[in-house]
Amino acid sequence: MMATTHVFVGLAAVAPIAYAAPELSTPLAAGAILGGLAPDLDLVFEHRRTCHFPVVGVAVAAVAVGVALVAPSPFAVALAAFAAVAWIHAASDAIGGGPEMDPWNDRTERAVYDHVRGRWIRPRRWIRYDGAPEDAAIATAFAVPALLVFDGWVTAAVIVGLATSFVYALVRRRLVAWTPEWLE
Ligand SMILES: [Zn+2]
Repeated sequence: MMATTHVFVGLAAVAPIAYAAPELSTPLAAGAILGGLAPDLDLVFEHRRTCHFPVVGVAVAAVAVGVALVAPSPFAVALAAFAAVAWIHAASDAIGGGPEMDPWNDRTERAVYDHVRGRWIRPRRWIRYDGAPEDAAIATAFAVPALLVFDGWVTAAVIVGLATSFVYALVRRRLVAWTPEWLE
């Protein structure tokens, strides 16, 4: 899935809480956006392994959410949103494709790494590859609750993210030809 899809899913997950408690909407949005993006920072290490925790992540998220429920400071709320959305990101990578640049000619069977069992989870390919038409459709659907609940900079970020997603999805299949060999 695209990074933007992960961010929109995260914003949609925290949107009901932001709707019920608007005073927490800034820490919720900030935590969700960073949590949606952060796991993919492992692109420079071992992608889908170093910063992806599809199994242990749920325990970390549960603790962070528990702390935020007991002592709901803005920082605790942001941290809980971050941990929960980072876990959703890692877990949902399993329903997408592999991390390969060129899934048409070069498929891998490594969706995301399960640190508990010490092996790779295979890609389900419900979303065939990042930037697939179904990826753009899901990104759009999940952006709706974010646009309805949040305002200000979050709305601006969502609109920029949506526009970027559409352009990326449009050129995705051509990117393979444009990307130099060493970067793939
Ligand atoms: Zn990822």
